[in-house]
Amino acid sequence: MTEAEKHVRRRARHRCEYCQLPQSASRLRHQIDHIIARQHGGGDALSNLALCCVHWK
Ligand SMILES: [Zn+2]
Repeated sequence: MTEAEKHVRRRARHRCEYCQLPQSASRLRHQIDHIIARQHGGGDALSNLALCCVHWK
C-alpha cells in the first residue's frame, strides 16, 4: 500500500466517501478512486483521491 493510499484510508476513517459504508461492513476491500479520472486530466494529488466501496466502481 502506498503512503498516499494509507493517507486516504485514514482521512476517510475507512468509510466510503460516497456512501459512508464502513470498511468493516464490506467483505470487499474499499478502493482508492480518482475523483477526476486520469484520462480526464485528474492527477494523483491527495485532493483528487477518495476512498470508495466497490459499488461505485
Ligand atoms: Zn460506497
